[in-house]
Amino acid sequence: MLKAILSQTNCIMLSYWEQAHRNQPFDVIVIGSGITGSSAAINLKKQSPKLRVAIVEAEKLFMTTASTKNAGFACFGSLSELLEDEALLGTDAMLDLVKRRWKGLNTLKSLIPVAAMDFIPCGGHEVFEDQELFQKCWAERERMNALLLPIIGPEVFSEKENPQDFGFKGFHTSIGNSYESQLDPAKMMDAFHSKLRAMDVPIYMASRVERIEEEKESVKLHLDEGILYARHVLVATNGLSKKLLDLDVRATRAQVLITEPIPDLKWKGVFHLDLGYTYFRNVGNRILLGGRRNLDIEAEYTDEMTVSPVIQESLETLLREKILPNSNISIAQRWVGIMGTGSARNPILQSCSERIHCAVRLGGMGVAIGSSLGADAASLILSRI
Ligand SMILES: Cc1cc2nc3c(=O)[nH]c(=O)nc-3n(C[C@H](O)[C@H](O)[C@H](O)COP(=O)(O)OP(=O)(O)OC[C@H]3O[C@@H](n4cnc5c(N)ncnc54)[C@H](O)[C@@H]3O)c2cc1C
Repeated sequence: MLKAILSQTNCIMLSYWEQAHRNQPFDVIVIGSGITGSSAAINLKKQSPKLRVAIVEAEKLFMTTASTKNAGFACFGSLSELLEDEALLGTDAMLDLVKRRWKGLNTLKSLIPVAAMDFIPCGGHEVFEDQELFQKCWAERERMNALLLPIIGPEVFSEKENPQDFGFKGFHTSIGNSYESQLDPAKMMDAFHSKLRAMDVPIYMASRVERIEEEKESVKLHLDEGILYARHVLVATNGLSKKLLDLDVRATRAQVLITEPIPDLKWKGVFHLDLGYTYFRNVGNRILLGGRRNLDIEAEYTDEMTVSPVIQESLETLLREKILPNSNISIAQRWVGIMGTGSARNPILQSCSERIHCAVRLGGMGVAIGSSLGADAASLILSRI
């Protein structure tokens, strides 16, 4: 008898008070503390301050799988990327993607002061290795600018530039874009989380949801250490969503590296090449370089948080041969993050059942679209409460 009591006590180990607190259902629990989940929680509290809202997050110490690990480009697509989207999806769908990204960036700036996230309107550039791709883009530049005029403003894709002016080697031309910006993603998320704390939204870090179970009046969240209840649940877990719901989302790894400081770095800004698959920017006087998952596309459909030699070697070769030729600068750090991609380029925002909703599949543009996707998710949930 005593043995049975002891084993029960050992496995639960909750006090009466803890048990009572945990069993009291929240109005909404958001799973995932990235840009999407945080924006959703802020918008829920803004529109309905009396709601009891909480966030549960699997990672520790204010980390996320992507929102604090990304490259910090505040972009809406390079010219070659948009032409590729247009060829694949049609003009209207391509313009919808741009609208969503531009609206998202404006929503982000309305939620977080630009100074708090080091948001710098530094301008962007697309550099071309391939003459044929450049000719195609250049021929379409004015038509694309006319399409983007009502969404973004005049002359989005500007004049030809000489990449040698930046000290690059092996790129023959680049096209400017004065509407692109860069930011510090960790500062951005810190500002989101401070805002949530000020709104009385608890963020339970290191709390992984293993399973979601819908009951008649509530949803039961099975965490690795216990159970929480909510009237509604928002799944904002992006690349890891398939572990909780059957959705068209694939975990997709993205890799980056950053150099040690470069005393005489000649440029500032964000750069794209290779149809957007490769990107680099300055971070102060360092260079951050990432992408290239197209070189090993199947292997990069993974949630493994490890760097791969194929991608890292290719990034480093590009850095040493073309971006910073004739320099021996050391690599300070390499890291990976997990994105969510799928068979379509738009995100999934839907109610999966009466009480379980999701806002996922942000692809490589989550900094741009996460805030407005979160806001839309909040409106969806409020329409069901
Ligand atoms: C290396 C890299 C570079 C990128 N660069 C850019 C860029 O420059 N510009 C841009 O616009 N986008 C970029 N992206 C994409 C962008 O970062 C993402 O699209 C965006 O952060 C997604 O935000 P999210 O909140 O939807 O998901 P996430 O930030 O991934 O947040 C989801 C959270 O859910 C948590 N979670 C998952 N499963 C569970 C569970 N079972 N229980 C509890 N919590 C769980 C995760 O730990 C995670 O913190 C990049 C991504 C990466 C990885």
